Amino acid sequence: SYYTKAKFFTSAPDIRHLKDDSGIEVAFAGRSNAGKSSALNTLTRQKNLARTSKTPGRTQLINVFELDDNLRLVDLPGYGFAKVPMATKLKWQKSLGEYLQKRKSLKGLVVLMDIRHPFKDLDQDLIHWAVDAGIPVLALLTKADKLKSGKRKAQLLMAQEAALAFMGDVTVNTFSSLNRHGLPELEQMLDKWLGR
Ligand code: GDP
Repeated sequence: SYYTKAKFFTSAPDIRHLKDDSGIEVAFAGRSNAGKSSALNTLTRQKNLARTSKTPGRTQLINVFELDDNLRLVDLPGYGFAKVPMATKLKWQKSLGEYLQKRKSLKGLVVLMDIRHPFKDLDQDLIHWAVDAGIPVLALLTKADKLKSGKRKAQLLMAQEAALAFMGDVTVNTFSSLNRHGLPELEQMLDKWLGR
């Protein structure tokens, strides 16, 4: 797959420190523990490309991976830690909102959510901001292997219904890093956004 080419490109302490707003990038976001690192590693077939910081509240870097000259995957810090101070939360909201609004190279946002509890408050905020900014969203229901086929399909249908409320370009798919369920669909969406 094309995505095996991904290489670490740069880290930034904050979205505002991301330079080089040229070319095309696709960002990955989600609550901590949603399965974002696993999904990035599955996508790129690399065991340790994306690593999780398991320390709640610790400052996490934004990691940028390059596929080709001017084609990037951006791994945004996980959100939703209970113990993060309010000031940190507000900062996160502000900088993420700005990123979605102002980043010209941003062509799509993947929002990863555990299939068993999708669309928590912060997920919804994020999707609203993306829709407001005209950024297409792929809501990826992760850890799909945790549910049997019937329940998985029911959750997908429910989430697709819920996604209509955003009144924007929001696609919902299921995904599993464990058995690669949904990987072709993820690649297809990324191909489209990256203009491949
Ligand atoms: P992140 O914090 O969003 O980067 O989440 P991680 O990728 O580190 O995953 C959090 C936890 O969920 C880890 O214990 C993973 O092993 C587990 N996990 C991630 N993806 C899957 C999956 O597709 N299926 C299952 N069963 N567990 C997963």
